[in-house]
Formats: sequence, structure tokens, C-alpha cells
Amino acid sequence: MPKILRVALDTPLRRLFDYLPPAEGSAPISIGARVRVPFGRQRRIGLVAAVADTSEVPAARLKPILDVLDPAPVIDPGLQQLLQWGAEYYHHPLGEVLSSALPRALRLGATPTAREERWLLTETGAASAESGEPRRAPRQRSLLAFLRDRREASAAVLDEHLGAWRDAARALAARGWIVSTEVELTRAPPPSATVRTAGPALLPEQSAAVAAIGASLDQFAAFLLHGITGSGKTEVYLRLIEQVLLAGRRALVLVPEIGLTPQLLERFRARFEVPLAALHSGLTDHERLAAWRDAFSGDARIVLGTRSAVFAPVPGLGLIVVDEEHDASFKQHEGGFRYSARDLAVMRARQAAVPVVLGSATPALETLHNAHAGRYTHLRLERRAAQARPPTLKLIDLRSSAMRAGLSTPVVLAIERHLGEDGQVLVFLNRRGYAPTLLCTACGWIAPCRECDARLTVHLAAARLRCHHCGTDLPLPERCPQCGFAVKAVGQGTERVEETLGTLFPAARIARLDRDVVRRRGDAEGVMRRMSSGEARILVGTQMVTKGHDFPNVTLVVVLNADQGLFSTDFRAPERLAQTIVQVAGRAGRGSRAGEVLIQTEFPDHPLLTQLLAEGYEGFARVALAERAQAAWPPFSRLAALRDSARTPEAALEFLTQARRLARHPPAGLRLLGPVPAAMAKRAGRYHAQLLIESRERRPLHAFLDEWLPEVEQLRSARAVRWSLDVDPIELF
Ligand code: ADP
Ligand code: ZN
Ligand code: ZN
Repeated sequence: MPKILRVALDTPLRRLFDYLPPAEGSAPISIGARVRVPFGRQRRIGLVAAVADTSEVPAARLKPILDVLDPAPVIDPGLQQLLQWGAEYYHHPLGEVLSSALPRALRLGATPTAREERWLLTETGAASAESGEPRRAPRQRSLLAFLRDRREASAAVLDEHLGAWRDAARALAARGWIVSTEVELTRAPPPSATVRTAGPALLPEQSAAVAAIGASLDQFAAFLLHGITGSGKTEVYLRLIEQVLLAGRRALVLVPEIGLTPQLLERFRARFEVPLAALHSGLTDHERLAAWRDAFSGDARIVLGTRSAVFAPVPGLGLIVVDEEHDASFKQHEGGFRYSARDLAVMRARQAAVPVVLGSATPALETLHNAHAGRYTHLRLERRAAQARPPTLKLIDLRSSAMRAGLSTPVVLAIERHLGEDGQVLVFLNRRGYAPTLLCTACGWIAPCRECDARLTVHLAAARLRCHHCGTDLPLPERCPQCGFAVKAVGQGTERVEETLGTLFPAARIARLDRDVVRRRGDAEGVMRRMSSGEARILVGTQMVTKGHDFPNVTLVVVLNADQGLFSTDFRAPERLAQTIVQVAGRAGRGSRAGEVLIQTEFPDHPLLTQLLAEGYEGFARVALAERAQAAWPPFSRLAALRDSARTPEAALEFLTQARRLARHPPAGLRLLGPVPAAMAKRAGRYHAQLLIESRERRPLHAFLDEWLPEVEQLRSARAVRWSLDVDPIELF
């Protein structure tokens, strides 16, 4: 039995907390198991992160652990190693990192296996409940009443309804009024891995990819599977997963958004007759716990999930797939632990000695760079599977075309032609709402957000003015609050484009896909069904339409405004724009008919656009990487951003200025840039600013951060702001 248990708790403090083994009981305690400990005046659940023989805390002040919740680790050593690495790499407190790897229900004490702890009333307990006992202990009384009404309740239900109930339960159990039982939940015996249906015969490039990756199934190797949309990447994943399943192992598949790709899940289910656990943000706590348990027990042979699923337990892991690896949603960029699930997936594969496949039609420049450098094997799928032909792309010069509510004449004519030929049309505009501006034509007043440096967006159907940055939501005024003149909605959002298309093409059904339409789970599926069935002829939407669904009948794709990404201060904006254009273009002509893509722009000579059209994404990437190399931006340097927000612009800058001053002798090759206010400095009533740390090499950056951050944390001005560190930030402002 170790003398000291070092426990990671979900706190912002960068340290572990030492405890003695529990006062009673001598069951062995595993690293990675949850324990309940006294913490100040509270009790907290933490994870045993390490054991030691001695502690720096004086013996008299060491307290024993109260409870050991798990006989075996809930985070296995491999995963713990990954999380430890993540805590160091992202310079985030280990306690918060470990706890972000567990579903909320487990952080609150639920059991990791599908055994269920249930509590029920005894006969004496029932009698006491009737007479309103115990009078002086309200928590016990409400627990007793709760159990009287329900007859019995699982610990999870009690957690959800009563909050802290365990002390009360202990007291009531001591009086013999309630008892607990453990119920093994019955589950179907795990079927042996079987393939339900065989896939199509592979094309030569697909076979080559499967062979190359399949040859490394017992070792770490990273692959970039680079193929246009529809080139058969998913089919490659399925074949590899089949091999992994037949070898008795399990696969972890990460995708950007499950709600938008129900077809993908369906494809997995249709192919394999094995239990599959789906972990994504649309789950309730209960559903998430259930899916996590399926993964933890090993019942699930395939774990498919979004960003945080990179931390899912997968015993006997045999393969990791990251689909659409360029997608920004793999980077957690707000809240506590800011990690890249793609990068952690590569690290996890390395630690587990299994291959990882990063798939994309538009790989991130970082990933391409890794492929060029030979760290990842670059596998290409150049042809479309299923006989589809690649679309033709064309720029529409907005300076010389007549416009009607954001639609140029060539675009209107093209839509008419494609509808006439029985094709479907997809119209992409990265702005939801009716119009981005409400303007008074008499006095020039523009509806502003009071909390942000931003305009309010007109939402006409809802008759609201909304801020897309802070959530401000006001009634839509009919007259100018300043001069009383009539106001006018200026510019285009998806809602208005839908309206305009409705007047232009009254016979065509139009569907819309954006966050205003997709409020609830399943909404997106409804829209996509209307498109797949052919009921809707035109789909108008935001970024959402660029993600993974397959509409084989779409023959025309229109990008209404490509210009937002051309002149941004963020060095990644061109990359994102190119990815979006290529991804949305990939929606065209997935069936047997070739597609047409029209891109409206006021800058048809912009090198990014001409390069993209002339040579495709790879041509763009070559030029963009050369520019990055010249400017020493990532992947040719390493970045971290120290960001903060405060009630005044001065306070936001003051903390960062002091932080910068602490860095008296930055190592060679490392530069601090800033602090500067964010491009949109005021957001939700707070002022945002940022200090960039840029380094030629990775090691000096981390060595610097290790020394600097503890000092930054101690700054008095740190208490006046909310600050965070973002390593490898993907959005700069
Ligand atoms: P991606 O994931 O690259 O977008 P998919 O794997 O979804 O591509 O393939 C696109 C379409 O082509 C799908 O309908 C798929 O069933 C089909 N497909 C994939 N590989 C083949 C093949 N070898 N033969 C015939 N059809 C294929
Ligand atoms: Zn006015
Ligand atoms: Zn706002």
C-alpha cells in the first residue's frame, strides 16, 4: 500500500494534492481510479494520478481519502499518459485535463460499468417518510420523500434530482431507513465481429491506400488520406476497420459533427454488425454516460465521436481515423482545456502503437507540411469513385454583373438552367439571418450591439434584431430610434437569399440550412431528407452545407460571397476560404452528372482565387505554404496566444503588458508580439486583447512557457481579468 496518494482535482491550480490512504479498508488503489477527498470544507471527486512515499505537506496536515470509488482505473495508463502529455503540451492544469476526459456523470460519481447503484426504502423508512421524518434534517427528509414517491432510484437519478445526497443517504442507511443495492444491468452478449454487407470492389488507388495502411496495423504510423469529396475515403476507412475488427481489436473514428453526418453513422451501421458507441455534443448526460460505458467495457467495437471522443476509453485499440481532419471544430478554442483533437489523436496512436489516418479533401497546411516532411505518409485518391466527374469552377465578376439582392445575373440564369434540367442547386453564404445591417437612410443610424463592436443582424421572420456574438436579442424597430424615419435592412443573409430565390423561382421548393433552422437535434436531418428525396430543389445555407452530406442530384453550387476571407488580419483566413470553396464545390455533381460551381467575387484577380481555380487545392496550398514560410508563420514556427478579457480596454492591455514585461530574457528565436486589442475588441460587454508568443522551434517555446506561466499567474493584474493560454491557436484576432 503506497503511503501517499497524489490526487488530481478539477481546479485551476497547477498541482496535485496529497492524501493518505483511506482510514479503513485496505483494498489496493489503482492509479487512474476515482477517489472522494476532503478539500477545504468540501468533498470532491478526483483521480489518483500518482503514488509516492513522501509528501512535502507536513504529516499532521495530511488527510485520508474518504472513499475509493473504483476498484480499477477509469482512465487506463495509456490514456492517462496521453492526458499527462496534453496537460504539459497545452500548459493546462492536469486536474482539469483529466476531468475533461470523463463524462459529467462520472465526475459526479456514477459507476463506470453498467452496474447500477440503486437506493430503496425499507419498511421503517416508509413509515418515517409518511410522518415527515427526520424533521431537523431537510436533505435527509427530501431524499426519503423522493424514494417514497419513486419506490427506488438509481444513484444517477439522485445525482440529477437532489444534488449532494450521499451524506443524507449514509445517515438514513445508518438508521436502517434506506438500503442500497447494486444491480447488474443485463445486456446482450457481444456479437462476434461480422461484416453485414461487403463493400464495392475497390478502385486501384483505394486498394493501394488500404494495403499501405493495412501493412502497419501493429505499429504507429500516420497517414494523410488526401482525396476529393466522393473519392472513396470513407470506403477506405471501412475496409481498414473491417481488418481491425477481424483481428479482435477496436477502432476510434473522429468526425467534426455527427448531427450533420447521420449518413456516415448509417453507413457504419449498415456495414458492420457490431455494437457502435456514438459520442457527440448532442447527448444528454445519461446518453453520454451510456455511450462511454459501452466504450469502456469494450462492448462497442467502433467508437465514433466528435472532438472529445479522442479521450474515449477504447480497450484493444487498433486504429484511429480522423475524418475531415482540417475541420476547425477539432480544436477546442474556448472554455478550459484548449486542445487539438487531431493532434492528440496522432499522439494517442503513437502511444498505443497503432496507425492513424487523417482524411480530407482539403488537408490543413500543417498536415500537408507534415506529409511533405515525411512524418505522415501521403496517400492520394485522385479520382472520384462511383463514376462521378469533378466539377468545373468559375468566378463571377461582381463589378461587371447586374445584381439582384446579392444574386448576379449569370448566377440567376445558371440556377434557372440547372433547375430546368432537373438538377438541384446549392447556394452557400456564410451569414445567417435576413440582413447584416439595419440602416436609417435619413440620418445614417445603424443598429449597433451595445455589448459588442458589432452590428445587430436583422431576423425578419422572427421580427428580431440579434447579435451573433453575444446573443443580444431585441424587437425589430420599424422606425429609426434616433430620427423616427423608416429603417431599411441592408445586405444579404441566408434568410433573405431564400426569400429572393422564392420570388425568382416560385415553382421550386427551397430549403434552408443554418443555425436558425437547426435549433433542435434532428432538424438538420429533416432538411437533408427534403433535399435527398428531391422535394426541395434549392438548398440555401451556411458552413453547415459544406459538411459531409451526399446530395447526388446537386449539379450547381453557388458561392455568393467569397470575399470575406480574402482580406482578413488572420493569417489562416485564406486557408479556411480555400477549404470552404473546395468543400462546397465538392457537393456538386456527386452523381453521374458533372457539376458546375460559380463563385461570386469582386476580386476575380486575387491570386488566391486564381491559383485555386487554376491548380486546385494543392496548387493553392503550395503558394500558401511558401507565404507562410516567408512570414515565419506556422507550420514554420510555433505559436501560443495569451488572451484576456476585462471590463475596460485598459485592464485587458495592462495584464498582458505586465505579462510581457515578465519575459525579460526570452530565448533566442522566440518573439513576443503585442499586446494588441482583438479585431473585435468589445464582445459581450468585455474587452479582449492578445499577446502572441512565436518561436522558431517547439522546444524553446515550451521551456519558456513552463517558466513564464507560473509567474504570469501570480500577477496581481491577473485577478482583474479572465485569461487563458492557447497553444497552437487556430484563430487569431
Ligand atoms: P469520400 O469519403 O471520399 O467522400 P465515399 O467513400 O463516401 O467518399 O465515396 C463516395 C461514393 O462513392 C459513395 O457513394 C460510395 O459508396 C461510393 N464508392 C466508394 N468507393 C467505391 C468503389 N470502389 N466502387 C464504387 N463505388 C464506390
Ligand atoms: Zn434615423
Ligand atoms: Zn453583441
